[in-house]
Parts: sequence; structure tokens; C-alpha cells
Amino acid sequence: MRLKLIFLLSFLTGYSPIVEANFADSVFRISVNSKMLSAPEVLSLYIQHKSLSSHEQYAGDWLKSVCHENGLHIYEYGNEDANYNFAASLLPLENNLPNIILLNHIDVVDEGDSSSWIHPPFSGYISESEVWGRGAFDNKGAAIMQLFSLLEYKSKYDTIASKYNVTFLAVSCEETMCEGGVEYVLNKYLHDLNPAVVIGEGATELSDLIEAETDDPIFGISIVQKRPLWLHLELSIPTLGHGSVTPLEYACKEMTIALSNLAKKKTRFIYTKENIKILKTIGNEKSGISKFVLKHPRCFKFILSKKLRNKPEIFSLFTNTITITSINSNFRAINQIPNKVSVTLDCRLLPEYPQKKTIKFIQKVLKNDEISIDIVATKGPTMASSIENLFYSHLESAIFESYENVTVIPIMLPNYNDVGPFRSKGIQGFSIIPIELDIEYLKSIHSENERIPIEALFMGAKVYLKFLEISINK
Ligand SMILES: [Zn+2]
Repeated sequence: MRLKLIFLLSFLTGYSPIVEANFADSVFRISVNSKMLSAPEVLSLYIQHKSLSSHEQYAGDWLKSVCHENGLHIYEYGNEDANYNFAASLLPLENNLPNIILLNHIDVVDEGDSSSWIHPPFSGYISESEVWGRGAFDNKGAAIMQLFSLLEYKSKYDTIASKYNVTFLAVSCEETMCEGGVEYVLNKYLHDLNPAVVIGEGATELSDLIEAETDDPIFGISIVQKRPLWLHLELSIPTLGHGSVTPLEYACKEMTIALSNLAKKKTRFIYTKENIKILKTIGNEKSGISKFVLKHPRCFKFILSKKLRNKPEIFSLFTNTITITSINSNFRAINQIPNKVSVTLDCRLLPEYPQKKTIKFIQKVLKNDEISIDIVATKGPTMASSIENLFYSHLESAIFESYENVTVIPIMLPNYNDVGPFRSKGIQGFSIIPIELDIEYLKSIHSENERIPIEALFMGAKVYLKFLEISINK
């Protein structure tokens, strides 16, 4: 009933009332429609501004107005759906200072099965300890951490003589890699932005993922990422159409056999600088024989590759993955034999692995020369950013100062994100969401019941603020 009332009110006013949780007076607040709101309250409103990929304008207009109301300098880089991007800067971009870019995306994935949500996906419901809704973590939660860090920095320090600018950069359709998002901004406005570094979305605290034996936190700053290679396979075999007589060869059968070959084939276990470092760090967190094996990954390659195959989240950092994501035929009726079958493959390549080699590998494994393979989308190889870079160590220091007994390591991300195009332009990029999240929260990302602990939201903003303080003031 209460939820129904909230919906009705939101229909009438455009905003839902926020469910009041008590935030301490000491909590930093920003101005939204002349009301001073805390980070969870602002995140709740942002979630209520629904923004599925390619429908960013409504939420983008709102977010931009919040940035403007709080005294940031606004630059529009496209202002319609699927091409809605803006920069909100501490100082005018015309000052041409080297710029620390805090990168985030406005778009979210859809809510999935809305009946499985405990609180409606776009309600922005605030409980005692959490903010709920699609985007609460990815990426609206992270954006609010960044925005609050920037505005708190602005309120604490005199920035007139600052050696750096800081820009909150919000872009469209990261989730779908559309052309009107970050690529558009970089192609047209890179010079205006003048980035010294970009900080984008990445992994949260890692110890759950690597099953560490201690409770001490481990953070990974991503310096490189795997790149996508999306493929479309097609097989056409004209046959007599009736399903009552089975032809010797027909498209569904031949494609099934080929895909079965592909699904059964194990992809190679490959070492890179970054993934070896990950193994050694995991080794530090273990004891006994596990520790010894992990600390000497080259000697125990065979054992490790066998063990890690059963842990896809980790194994994906050691191999080029090939995932069959759709199988379609030109189906018309159950008794008609389709003459065409198409398949999509989502392949993710280790950063410097050649895509031609991957396509050849797939061709060979399918064992059917009639199947055509076309590239739907791909990204070029990107250089890893350097851990010698000043901003890497500032980010590391900010984490050291915020958490006790913490380990920080450079990592590779299995997924591609908007930091990649910056790296392709030679700009240093580091990605991380510097918060601790239980595995239950991680499972809710891109799934039902996405939510974020309020404590984590405050903590993330605190780490980013420290990063800005170390980078600019020291
Ligand atoms: Zn994201």
C-alpha cells in the first residue's frame, strides 16, 4: 500500500518522497532544488530518474542541473538520448589546467524481472542502512561518490591557484558501447578536457573473490582491461523444407555440431605481467602449500590452470573467453526446416592478444568452413597504464589512509569499460570503486535487487576526496 502511494505521488510530482533515514549532522550535503541533501538522498533521487541505455536525457538533465546548482562549470557534449554527455568542472576548462577526470556513466541496464525486486527498481528506496534501485552501485552510486568528493573538496579549499582542474564527466550508453557516449566526447572534446588522468569504474574490495584467509582488505586498481570482440556466425543450407523427412545436412544440425566443438574446447591459460601479480598477491593471503604454489606461478602453471578453470571469475583473467550468447534460426513453424542459423559470440581477449588469431582459432575449432564469421564490434589493443604514474600512487595512498591493514595491487579487469578509450588515446587511466561490498551486493549488480550500503557510499566519497587532496594539495 505504502509503495502504491509512493508511486502515485511520484506520478503527480515527478519525485518520490524520500524514506527518511537519519543522517548525522556532520554528513556533507549539497543543494538540490534549494534543499540540502546527503549522498544517500541524492543517490535516491538519481535512481528515480530512470535512464536505460539510449534514454539518458531525463536523468542527465537532472544531474546536470544539480552540478550547476552547486557551482560547477558545465559543458554540454551532446544533449539528446544516446548522445547525452556533460562535463562539470571545478574550474573553467578555458583555464587549460591539467585535468583530473572523474568518469561515470548515466545509463543503467534494465531492471530484469521487476516482480523479484523487494523494493521497486526505480523507487530509490532508502532503508536504515541501504539505498535500493537500479544503478545504486553501477554506476549512479559511484557517480554520487565522485560528485560528493568533488563538491566537498570545493567547499573545503580555495581553488583559485589550483595546479589541477577536476572534472566530473557523465556520459551516455557505457553499457551498450554506443557511438554517442565516451567515444564521441573524446573524438570532439579531448583537447578541451585536457586530461592528466582518468578515474573510472572498477572492482570493489577483492578478498571475497579470491577467498583470502585473512579479514584484511585487498583492493585492486585496474591499470588495464580485456577487450571485447563480438562476433556474428552464420550458416545457410537450403533444404527441402518439411520437417517430416530429415535431410543428411541442414543448418540447425550442422551449427549444433560446430558449436558443440567450440563449447567443449578449452581455451589456453596465458600468463601476463598483471595476472601473475594477482596470483602472487593471493598467495600472500594464503598459508601452507597453497601459498607456495601461488607464489611460484610459473613452476606450477599446469596445476594452477587446472584449479582455476573451475573458478570462472578468476580464470577469465588468464584466458581469452568465448561465450555463446545467442542462437537463432529463421524459425517459422515446428515442421519447417530453417535454412539459416545465426549465433553471437561474446569473446574477451587479453589486452595485447591479436584478434585475428582468435578468429582463426574459432574457425578451426568449429570444423565447418561454410560458417561465416563477422565482427560486430571490437576495441583496439590498449596499453596498460603505469603503476609508476603519480596518480596511481596518490590513489594507492588514499586507500592506505582510509582502510586499516590494507593491501593494494594493480589488476586487470575482465570487462571493458569507458576508461579503455582514454587509454587508447594515450591517457593514463585507473579504475576502482574503493569500497568494501559483500558478495550478496555484488551479485545484485545487473541483476535484481541492486542496492548499496549507505556506509559504503560515504566511504567511497571519502577515498575519492582523499585522492583529490593528495593529488592537488601536496
Ligand atoms: Zn558500469
